[in-house]
Amino acid sequence: MWARRLASTRRLAAGLAGVGGGGLLLSNASQAQEARPPTEEKPRRLPIGGISHEIRTPLRRVTSVDPPLHGFYAKEMSVRGLPLRAHACVSDGAMCVAADRLSRMLRQLPDEVLSRLSRRGASFHIIGLCQGTSDLPEHAHMKGVDGGYTGEKGVTLDMRARGMGGVHSSCGEENLLDLDADPRYGGSDILVHEFAHCVMDVGLPHAVRQAVVDTYERAVGREGRWKRADGSCAYAGSCAEEYFAELTMWYFGSHGEFVDRVAAHPTPGPGGLAQYDPDGFALLAAIYGGTHPGLKAADAPHTRLVPAREGTVSTDEEEGKVPIEFDNQGCRGCAWKLFWITPKGEQVQYGEIEPGKCFEQVTFPGHTWLLKTAPGNPAAEKEELRYTAAKEPCVAVIGEDGT
Ligand SMILES: [Zn+2]
Repeated sequence: MWARRLASTRRLAAGLAGVGGGGLLLSNASQAQEARPPTEEKPRRLPIGGISHEIRTPLRRVTSVDPPLHGFYAKEMSVRGLPLRAHACVSDGAMCVAADRLSRMLRQLPDEVLSRLSRRGASFHIIGLCQGTSDLPEHAHMKGVDGGYTGEKGVTLDMRARGMGGVHSSCGEENLLDLDADPRYGGSDILVHEFAHCVMDVGLPHAVRQAVVDTYERAVGREGRWKRADGSCAYAGSCAEEYFAELTMWYFGSHGEFVDRVAAHPTPGPGGLAQYDPDGFALLAAIYGGTHPGLKAADAPHTRLVPAREGTVSTDEEEGKVPIEFDNQGCRGCAWKLFWITPKGEQVQYGEIEPGKCFEQVTFPGHTWLLKTAPGNPAAEKEELRYTAAKEPCVAVIGEDGT
């Protein structure tokens, strides 16, 4: 396993060096005419010996994290401010591929979206070949839990998924190193699917999220797209969030779940998407191309919540989703674990809010959320806090004393 992985990493690194070096095209006189001219007005004669002297912005590179973050993440890259992290066992080749794919998704998004992702602590994580999804610290509480996040009996998180959406989205190393050889998701770009969830849930302003919902309802509900011959829905037809994540795979060159598996329909890639669902394609082009007029909108004012009393649980009603933002800017010394309190009072963990960060959770009005910090943490006066979501977008500000 190790020998094979090292060999494939070396092949990949060699390939990357060839692409990045520039000399590949320019060293061959017959190909030089076909190469794109430099962007400067006057074409210049390139000196022998490469292009490194022309590099002004340092190239992206894998850095070591010592000691590892959460005792786990020992490798990191920064992609337009977004941290990309992995365990030491993940190859640098997979890191480079992931960074490139993330940069393609982020390149045209306006600063308002990038800063919202950063403020809310978004990051992308790679699951190593020898690891399961529950080895990632943010999912460690799900290791071996029957039903995982979905409640499906007899199926754990590791059996079900190698990749998750959300503020800390993730995918498997194998899907990055060789998309076609991935035994679970061959041909489908899982990074793009999972990070699309992060872009939509954490980065996009409310009006653009609503545009996704409207386009989904029109395409699936009224026009009957993303339905198989027997009337059942392909994954893109299951909800607005999966519609956006699945279409994003087509938009960036691969495919999600086909409507017709035998005929591989819609055809993989953006052309196939444009033909099958023109409205969905146009919306994604406007979002990822940075031209959608709603992208630069500021967030709606948030209602500031006061902590709920002890023992408060969620109501049963589930109408009208609303974002609740947990703001841990004031409590710099401590991280908080976030749990949803079910109507029966059970605690279901959803994430962790790092010191100095925000975390947005889409929920329903009347649903109660519990924050827990490490027992005896001197930075927080209280070890538990409960907040119940309001009807409007709301913020739970955790102060220095944990109130
Ligand atoms: Zn999904």
